[in-house]
Amino acid sequence: MTDFNAQLAVELAALRKADLLRELRRVESPAGTRACLGGRELLNFSSNDYLGLANHPALKEAAVCAAKKFGAGAGASRLVCGSLAVHHELEEALAAFKGAEAALTFSTGHAAALGAITALLDRGDLLILDKLVHACIVDAAKLSGAKLRVFRHNDLNDLEAKLKWAAKQRSAVSGQRPARTLIVTESVFSMDGDLAPLRDLVELKERFGAWLMVDEAHATGLFGKRRSGLVEEFGLTGRVEIQMATLGKAVGAAGGAICGSRNLIDLLVNRARSFIFSTAPVPAAAAAASAGLKVIESSEGEARRERLWLLVEQLKRVLIEASFPPPAVRAPIIPVAMGAEARAMRFAESLRKAGVFVPAIRYPTVARGAARLRFTVSAEHTAEDLAALAKALGGIANG
Ligand SMILES: *Cc1c(COP(=O)(O)O)cnc(C)c1O
Repeated sequence: MTDFNAQLAVELAALRKADLLRELRRVESPAGTRACLGGRELLNFSSNDYLGLANHPALKEAAVCAAKKFGAGAGASRLVCGSLAVHHELEEALAAFKGAEAALTFSTGHAAALGAITALLDRGDLLILDKLVHACIVDAAKLSGAKLRVFRHNDLNDLEAKLKWAAKQRSAVSGQRPARTLIVTESVFSMDGDLAPLRDLVELKERFGAWLMVDEAHATGLFGKRRSGLVEEFGLTGRVEIQMATLGKAVGAAGGAICGSRNLIDLLVNRARSFIFSTAPVPAAAAAASAGLKVIESSEGEARRERLWLLVEQLKRVLIEASFPPPAVRAPIIPVAMGAEARAMRFAESLRKAGVFVPAIRYPTVARGAARLRFTVSAEHTAEDLAALAKALGGIANG
């Protein structure tokens, strides 16, 4: 035991020395624009609860009702006896929302990515990822055993080169079924707030006979007429084989989802190990997600989205005026480049002292030396909140 703890201590010390040590901060308040940390109330610009639904009365009520009706836990995996009506209701709502034939939900978005990619790909198949996809896609890629290539972020020429490589590999394989080529990207990138060129991507993958999976974790609830995501906004529903969503961000609850054809969903029920060998999500989570979708699809949802975009523009102006210029993003994720990890940590600490909570995002979430402050805004923020942020930023020199 002494050797065990001594070894881990060495590793932790190395992380601290490199400004990469992460620690949990205990929050004593509900999700919202204020976070109570260490007895202090901070203005919160760190949450992915973009529409302010995580603490919405309709979602909380739905969660309470589901717990009363179905219990606190589901009791077993979905395939054993945990496939409760609340899960089916959520999946029916999700399929309609995303314009897909069917949907399957998982306990987390992370589990959805692992389950879907490893169910579809095997050794001998080919997987092509955007350089900046989320860690869960990278984990799934490793687990799948598929041959992997990474294309430069949003670079269609580089993607085409990788597709040509895949076509060559494919013609060399003589397995029981044709080798598959799957491209995975995000629609709104989680740490950069930029958008994938989905229309061109779809044309390219169709030209090469590849399949496309789009992770809409940060677009669900925000883009498109129905607010189902960027696939809808770009009119690509039906041309994207695998639509992935998470239910813990704008939807305000918890969980992950894969939406697509009936055959895709039936296959996942049979092959997605993170679905099969895992207890069903608690009824409260499924019911809260269904309620979140209802709010998103209502006129209240539209009003919240409108308000969010207004605040995004205001936040950008605040950052420009404080000499922290943000990149030209079209999302409620506004990264301000800091470079060195230590610098990002220092600025985040100064902001905390000034009463504002913004996370310093560091390796391995982003590349080494590409640390950033990641500002996120919620429909629940007010003009006064942004004025308070401007004041806090004004007190910190951007040196
Ligand atoms: C948050 C996130 C996930 C994981 O979803 P969870 O439900 O939090 O596990 C997957 N992909 C992207 C892009 C994300 O931002």
